Amino acid sequence: MKTTEQRIAELEARVAELEKAAEQTTADNNNPLCVCCKDKPGDYELHATDWICDDCAQYMNDAGNELDT
Ligand SMILES: [Zn+2]
Repeated sequence: MKTTEQRIAELEARVAELEKAAEQTTADNNNPLCVCCKDKPGDYELHATDWICDDCAQYMNDAGNELDT
């Protein structure tokens, strides 16, 4: 049976982990430039070295939908 103090300590450790992960996610936007516009850092990884930004992904998605119809 865990004491309340132990549970709080565990939760605090978990919060610290999540905060660290969130910081890394933000810092991570040193992603390689988008292969499409070569202007913005990529948000999505297409292949090991090819990244695409949100805008281009959206554009490609729209274009893809048109091709499908
Ligand atoms: Zn782009």
